[in-house]
Amino acid sequence: MEQNIQEVLLTEEQIKNRIAELGRILTEEYRDKNPVVIGVLKGVVLFYADMVREIKTSCQMEFMRISSYEGTDSTGKIIIRQDVSSDIQGRHVLILEDIFDTGNTLSFVYQHLLEKKPASVKICTLLDKPSRRKPGVTLQADYVGFTIPNYFVVGYGLDYNEYYRNLPYIGILKPEAYT
Ligand code: 5GP
Ligand code: MG
Repeated sequence: MEQNIQEVLLTEEQIKNRIAELGRILTEEYRDKNPVVIGVLKGVVLFYADMVREIKTSCQMEFMRISSYEGTDSTGKIIIRQDVSSDIQGRHVLILEDIFDTGNTLSFVYQHLLEKKPASVKICTLLDKPSRRKPGVTLQADYVGFTIPNYFVVGYGLDYNEYYRNLPYIGILKPEAYT
């Protein structure tokens, strides 16, 4: 597995420190708001587990599962495999996502959740690749862990064909590992 990593982009420690910083901001933002923290599976799993532990105020946890991405290429087609299981009308919603790439997924999820009439919806993404944004996507993340260049990254929840999610850091995959 690790022999296919060209370079470590973000170490475990960098990730941990940044999540602690975001946690302080989100704790203030959501104090007494009893937010519903919605994770977009599966890529968000490790970020989600670490992030919610740094949000030191009461919250509820929900998940959505979306399919949109095959291999290293966004198909742009989005299917909801699993929707949130509780009523979020009137609630403060915080979406957690692994990576904001073309914006297809988050734009879709954001619109979908807005239709449920929450009190507010904000987005916190661990990684942002603004250079990949599809023209016409105006949505922005409210909280960003790291802004990164246009590399295909794996680890810390992010996969290539369902592998590498369990790496504790974020790495750049060797191009030869795609083939
Ligand atoms: P978008 O819909 O913004 O194009 O893509 C979002 C989804 O594509 C992410 O949730 C993630 O699953 C996948 N994705 C985008 N860029 C990368 C990347 O660099 N590495 C991996 N492993 N997945 C990515
Ligand atoms: Mg994802």
